[in-house]
Amino acid sequence: MSLPTIDAYPDTYQFRFCPLDGTPLERMPRHGQERLGCPSCGWVFYPNPNIAATVVVEYQGGIVLLKRNIPPDRGIWHLPIGHAEFGEDPADTAIREVQEETGLDVTDLRFLEYEHSPGYGDPRMFYIVFCFAARAVSGTLGGDATEVSAARVVPLEEVPELKWSSQRKALAAYCRQQGTADRGQGIEDRG
Ligand SMILES: [Zn+2]
Repeated sequence: MSLPTIDAYPDTYQFRFCPLDGTPLERMPRHGQERLGCPSCGWVFYPNPNIAATVVVEYQGGIVLLKRNIPPDRGIWHLPIGHAEFGEDPADTAIREVQEETGLDVTDLRFLEYEHSPGYGDPRMFYIVFCFAARAVSGTLGGDATEVSAARVVPLEEVPELKWSSQRKALAAYCRQQGTADRGQGIEDRG
């Protein structure tokens, strides 16, 4: 398979100077690809995907949906989701993001599936999203007012079509695990 070229890197990866010594970067072949590298110290940029975790949270007979309050895609409903910090296990990311975004503490975390796809903010950035399910055991459904404008509990069979492919994949895997109809089927994948 072919990997994205330097010109196809996302804006945030269009580096011009070496982060270690400030030398202008040059294009150079490394490991079968043209890379951005430093002719002075030998530093080479190997772009990585962003890592995130999303969670199907079981709570009060349904699952938790959040209304997004920040761009991109402000106003859509989504599952709790967030970036993994450097050094953080994605399972710990899942638990932390649920706490931050919903106010709920979860247990019984189960891995469902992963998704690799272009991001919605910049489609040249790739994301790996680890999809989990978990059960809320304490806390009060509230949510981070900065990132989330509303939170609600929806019975599984009444969950609307979710925009992000990672969320649909998580839900489809959850439905398979629960033995219910696969909501991921027949929904066009928009990325
Ligand atoms: Zn350098």
